[in-house]
Amino acid sequence: MKHKKQMRIAAVVLLALAMVFILASCGSGDGKNHKHNYIEKVTKPATCVEEGEATYTCYGCGDSYTQTIPVSDIHEYKKVVLTEATCDKDGEAELTCTVCGKVVKEVIPATGNHMFTLKETVQPTCVEDGKEVYKCEYCESTFEDIIPATGKHTYESSVTKEPTCATPGVKTFKCTVCGETYTEDIPVDLNKHEYTKEEVLRHENCTEAGQIKRTCIHCGDFTVETIPPTGHSFTKWTVYRPATTEAPGEERCYCDHDCGMYETREIPQLPTPEPEPQDGPAEGGQTGGN
Ligand SMILES: [Zn+2]
Ligand SMILES: [Zn+2]
Ligand SMILES: [Zn+2]
Ligand SMILES: [Zn+2]
Ligand SMILES: [Zn+2]
Ligand SMILES: [Zn+2]
Repeated sequence: MKHKKQMRIAAVVLLALAMVFILASCGSGDGKNHKHNYIEKVTKPATCVEEGEATYTCYGCGDSYTQTIPVSDIHEYKKVVLTEATCDKDGEAELTCTVCGKVVKEVIPATGNHMFTLKETVQPTCVEDGKEVYKCEYCESTFEDIIPATGKHTYESSVTKEPTCATPGVKTFKCTVCGETYTEDIPVDLNKHEYTKEEVLRHENCTEAGQIKRTCIHCGDFTVETIPPTGHSFTKWTVYRPATTEAPGEERCYCDHDCGMYETREIPQLPTPEPEPQDGPAEGGQTGGN
């Protein structure tokens, strides 16, 4: 269209120049053999449905003729948007010529402007990254933001080896999420001796104390315990020397523990038996003497 306009302007300029040049001959002669000098005037513009008409009139002699202007391929379009373009999909518009009714479709390019909103959050753990998932409100486009792993373990501890008086124990820490472990020593515990190895150094008896050595089976530490004397035990009396009419007897009670100690007590002397009745006053006289 612009190109045609320029052509037309160029033509008009040329005509004007030609007229100035021809004026002399057209004006000076009698009009019989001058060169016509036509000026174009569009008397009816062409449209997309109707031909137009241009009239050419000679400036010098007034001679004129008309010429048809062909149907124009320039339409007067009115635009109607059928579907709006989105971030990822082209839209479509319909152009209808208000003059001839010609309809053409026009593509409205996708905008590329996504509208992202946060749809899902996966929390990170000590070792695994988390993420934030964003989705476009209008299309299927997504993108993810990585949330780095925290590196912070959640430990639970337990005693995996009890300490003794001689060897340290072990405490194990384990992450409940990823299973990562580390250990710590539990110091030697001197309250954990086991004095179960016994050795009698000396047996106790009735009068002397005994001794027992108790040794820890882990570290060799030992204690010596004193067992007090048992003391004698006198329970069974036996006659050592029976009593007679002449002298008291003796009972002895030996210590039950066979230590040889004994206690004594007297058995009363037996009474002198009554003399047998005798025939004679002399005997009776003696009795009274005792
Ligand atoms: Zn003329
Ligand atoms: Zn048209
Ligand atoms: Zn989108
Ligand atoms: Zn962990
Ligand atoms: Zn010990
Ligand atoms: Zn005794």
